[in-house]
Amino acid sequence: MSYFGDIASATKTLISGMKITGRYFFVNFFTRKEIITVEYPDNIDTLKMFDRFRGEIVMYHDENNQHRCDACTMCEIACPNGSIEIIWDKAINEETGKPKKFLEEHIYHLEMCTMCGLCIEACPADAIMWGQNFHHATQDRSHLTKSLNQPGSSFIPGYKNPKK
Ligand code: SF4
Ligand code: SF4
Repeated sequence: MSYFGDIASATKTLISGMKITGRYFFVNFFTRKEIITVEYPDNIDTLKMFDRFRGEIVMYHDENNQHRCDACTMCEIACPNGSIEIIWDKAINEETGKPKKFLEEHIYHLEMCTMCGLCIEACPADAIMWGQNFHHATQDRSHLTKSLNQPGSSFIPGYKNPKK
């Protein structure tokens, strides 16, 4: 293609690409129509991510601050990059009189997580799931290391893992 042909083609492509932007700019500006785009973070109070959005891993807690995690460590094993650490201990189960594992802390390193979802798939108790929070920007890296079990939380008494 000739030099001038290239310029003509590039100009045509540019106009084509800017057509919608230009239409909204001129038409909406002169007719005072409602602008349909809202800039983040102006819409931060109303912005809701779609259901399948992968923002972070969170742990389910019921209204009594109880969770389903029995510290089986399956999620820790499944995670390909060590983003999960399960800290557990043993205590005597009052029902059986036998020692039983319990969760002390479910540590999640958001800064390393690739949102692959393998931990959620591996969890036999549906104890962890996707959270939709995406406001993760911070100047302190330590803020990205989280405890998924809430302070003072405990295992749901008598909860039976349906997949065991
Ligand atoms: S989503 Fe993937 S990378 Fe993130 S904690 Fe789970 S298994 Fe690890
Ligand atoms: S979150 Fe699920 S897979 Fe991970 S330790 Fe708890 S019960 Fe096991």
